[in-house]
Amino acid sequence: VKRPLALRPVRRPYPHAVDAARALCEPLGMCDPGDLDVEALAHLAGADVLLSHPRVQGEGHTLRASGGARGLVAIGESIWSTRHGRFVLAHEIGHLLLHAGHDVLSACLESGAQLPPGARKIEGEASDAGCEILMPETWFAPGCRGAPPGMTELRAMADRFEVDVTTAGLRALLYVEAPCAIVVAKGGVVEWVACSEGWDLYLRRKAPLPEGSAAARFANGARVDARGGGVECDASVWGGRRESAAETEIDGEKKSDEAPAIVGSVKEYVDRDERTGAVIAWLVRSDR
Ligand SMILES: [Zn+2]
Repeated sequence: VKRPLALRPVRRPYPHAVDAARALCEPLGMCDPGDLDVEALAHLAGADVLLSHPRVQGEGHTLRASGGARGLVAIGESIWSTRHGRFVLAHEIGHLLLHAGHDVLSACLESGAQLPPGARKIEGEASDAGCEILMPETWFAPGCRGAPPGMTELRAMADRFEVDVTTAGLRALLYVEAPCAIVVAKGGVVEWVACSEGWDLYLRRKAPLPEGSAAARFANGARVDARGGGVECDASVWGGRRESAAETEIDGEKKSDEAPAIVGSVKEYVDRDERTGAVIAWLVRSDR
């Protein structure tokens, strides 16, 4: 089976995880994301929330005696009462709702690639429930439909739902109607990428931001007005040259003759993540 040379779009949330989050939140009749008190929700889900001991590794974890109805969620001091801390707490609520026997200290929010497949699914389920708690689809999705959001809109969504802009961006990729992608780079090198359904350019991880991109100029300290209106560039800047893209292996198969011609353009919006210092590029594909 020949597979196209492309990234996989963001995973759709597990329906049972979304349902569990809704079953917790919907009876409360909240009218606005500002009504959401994540700590109160954790209590409702059966846990007390406390500050982790500084020696405990990890950003957050859940403790529950096997079979016990109530438990504890501990959140690391460095992220306590930050937007990221809220996300970690919502993720832990996901475990409380979905994983009765979950008392793993170390697994939470480790990089997915380092986890065995079973643990990765459990962490994915917890995050799906957490995302539905913090950014309910019925409130979040409408802002993504129609004309794709730019960085200003993503920032506004992040503020409204009190999450990091990368968290809002990842969520938006589920609902945008135009092909979009998010690229996060540190020190000018791409750390991770994610894309929506329909995104056709291969974005390289662990490679420098592409030469000629607004993101690369921004990472180098240049003043780039790419937050408001976005900066248009040729799609080949991000897609790489045909030959170089074709060198990339997918599942061990080289696809040297399969790379489609790269046409059209990409609109880039760039910004910096205050928490991590990383450069965030939000890419919108156009004119194909
Ligand atoms: Zn977890």
